[in-house]
Amino acid sequence: MNRRDFTRTLAAGASALPFTHSFASSFSQDKKLGVALVGLGGYSQGQLGPALQETENCYLAGVVTGTPEKEKVWADKYGIPEKNIYNYETYDQIADNDDIDIIYVVLPNSMHAEYTIRAAEAGKHVICEKPMAMNVAECRQMMDACEKAGVKLSIGYRLHFEPYNQKVMEVAKENTMGKINFVRCGAGYRMGDNWDQWRLQKDLAGTGALGNMGVYAIQGAIYAVGENPLYVRAQEFKTIPKKFDETDETVTFQFEFPSGVVANCETSHNAKMNYLYVSAEDGWIELDPYSQYGGLKGKTSKGPLNFPQVNQQARQMDDFAACILNNTQTPVPGEMGLRDVQIIDGILASIESGGDKVKLDDLAF
Ligand code: NAD
Repeated sequence: MNRRDFTRTLAAGASALPFTHSFASSFSQDKKLGVALVGLGGYSQGQLGPALQETENCYLAGVVTGTPEKEKVWADKYGIPEKNIYNYETYDQIADNDDIDIIYVVLPNSMHAEYTIRAAEAGKHVICEKPMAMNVAECRQMMDACEKAGVKLSIGYRLHFEPYNQKVMEVAKENTMGKINFVRCGAGYRMGDNWDQWRLQKDLAGTGALGNMGVYAIQGAIYAVGENPLYVRAQEFKTIPKKFDETDETVTFQFEFPSGVVANCETSHNAKMNYLYVSAEDGWIELDPYSQYGGLKGKTSKGPLNFPQVNQQARQMDDFAACILNNTQTPVPGEMGLRDVQIIDGILASIESGGDKVKLDDLAF
């Protein structure tokens, strides 16, 4: 497919979808950008590696891994040349590798800041997984490093590129169902029996369900209302205190928005929940499930929704590559990741106070 055909295909795809950002923009170059995945755990193996076989604007150019056995597996599976395979000691040498334009940080949360900053210092654009970092100070250091290096930073918020969720964003943005009056959002799963996993360790994960799955509920509530929340109240519950002795198990929180709308949200590492419901003056829209990788379903007060199932990660990475090629702003920048960490801090402050209403001041996005 030549570039013109490709651009046309993208534009046609975009018009069939409810809401698009810069995804449909045409390209200023013919080059596909090279992506290096840092951390070859579950998400890289299961989703990002395969997604990079479907991308049009970028491709899997390299990997960074601390596990030598994975080097050959990935090289064989994806045809990655040896010179594009790094470990954590040789990581900074990526600066000299012109094949790699984007570094995608897919490590435990406590490592996001360091590996993003080092990527920026190597002159590479960065996608960092959610939650952006362990705290606000780290987020700001990451943003500063990227700004100083003149590289773009985005967060792995794949649902911004998913048609059902884009429909919810459109309802808020275009006011197609009248004034929104209430939102419910839940994102959680039942964690397996491995009590040694990093997601249960505070020094690696930061928070528990809140940072891992709660960010989806924070995000869902915000794009369903189309505003940032003004206040939050939050509560934490544990049914297996021994397992969740360092990190939260289940957290519920309620946002108040400037327009008066309330969003009732929940997240858990011990309960399955996966829904986004928006009530408005002239109808409602409900996605269930709304945040998994595929098989999303949705309906409105007028009937079922039928959007194509897409590869969310491929669209997310293609969009970021297009933003780099066209020098446009990603819809999911570092500022958005920082905002969500600020909100997590507000939720934690409310829990700490026994459920007091906490004002969410100076949100970054
Ligand atoms: P994982 O446990 O499957 O993989 C983590 C990787 O980091 C492994 O390859 C491991 O070897 C490596 N690692 C390096 N140092 C480590 C250490 N000290 N302890 C543990 N592992 C270490 O995790 P994952 O599910 O791939 O998650 C990685 C990141 O991606 C997390 O930030 C997570 O929140 C994010 N994630 C995002 C999505 C999404 O849908 N956007 C989905 C899954 C994970």
